[in-house]
Amino acid sequence: MGKWTSRTGRGAILALLLLVAGMLPGAGLLRGAPVPAATIVQGTAADEFNELNDLARRTRLLPTPSPAPAQLILAELNPAKAPVPTGPLTYVPILYYHYIRINPNPQDRVGFSLSTPPAMFRMQMQYLADHGFHVISLHQAVTAIKNHSGLPSRPIVLTFDDGYADFFTAAIPILRSHGFTATSFVISGRMGWGGFMTPSQVVAADSQGFTIGAHTVDHVALAAQAPARATWEIKQSKLMLEELLGHPVLDLAYPYGSFNGYDMEQARSLGFETAASTTYGSVHSAGQLFMLSRLRIGGGLPLSYYARVVGGPPPTLAELSGSAGSPAASPPAAKPSAAPSPSPTPIPSPSPSATALSPNRPTALWL
Ligand SMILES: [Zn+2]
Repeated sequence: MGKWTSRTGRGAILALLLLVAGMLPGAGLLRGAPVPAATIVQGTAADEFNELNDLARRTRLLPTPSPAPAQLILAELNPAKAPVPTGPLTYVPILYYHYIRINPNPQDRVGFSLSTPPAMFRMQMQYLADHGFHVISLHQAVTAIKNHSGLPSRPIVLTFDDGYADFFTAAIPILRSHGFTATSFVISGRMGWGGFMTPSQVVAADSQGFTIGAHTVDHVALAAQAPARATWEIKQSKLMLEELLGHPVLDLAYPYGSFNGYDMEQARSLGFETAASTTYGSVHSAGQLFMLSRLRIGGGLPLSYYARVVGGPPPTLAELSGSAGSPAASPPAAKPSAAPSPSPTPIPSPSPSATALSPNRPTALWL
């Protein structure tokens, strides 16, 4: 990510690319765009944008990978592999979700990919409970990574990006039924907006033991911002949440996984303990606490594939049918409609059971 650090002389290039991006459908990512945080890009726009980037790179307009917005959103949907960590290593998968809901618009593929239906989420949590996973807090994971001090068997961290209201209304009841903890990365400037948690819900989640992290004020792609704006977004989101909660906020997640060396340093110097990215990986080292890798859990993920992502055994037949778990653990599961119709193409190397679920899968990359 250090290769993104140079902002010098990049303004003109970015201005050109952002101008073009603004003309593309679904690329309305610029400051103040009144769109939900995670429902922005269409594949076509991203593809066109990649072509522009390639062209610019070939003509030496763009010597390094650009932080232009559409490309960055695509990066969040199709994460890069994490850099190879150095030093003592700690294995702990850090999952990240967006919505816990049934995608309201079947035509919205991006919305689908970001929406884990509550019934599916319940099955996933039941799977973790059934197979001896230890759901730990992000702070516990960071402490272990920092000190290489070890973790319980099958450790796992659950995180949720954007601070949607369904974290409070749908995810928390399921998490609490298992005694699981989690972190919600809240866009501080969107609390109380439609679909997002209200400040009082954020406070209530915090008081119930869930961790609230910062996710900037306006959900901007940090690497595309001028330094002063990037600093303000990081700092102000921390201050707003700390004022609301009355205690330090130590965790940051970079919107769209967009960050550079400057942003990492700002996060560190402003007092964050860690910053989560969207690069794909489960092995961490103390030198990478400000670029923590995570595993994206998207909509329509078959439980058998989920099991492989988290490093567990294949699910039992009862788990696959949604009938596993103690009777008291949760309310009756799964309206039939909760199963989304298009199922994603799992990556990498899907198992036969993972691919046989739907003949109508999009050819994409939702993890
Ligand atoms: Zn986000």
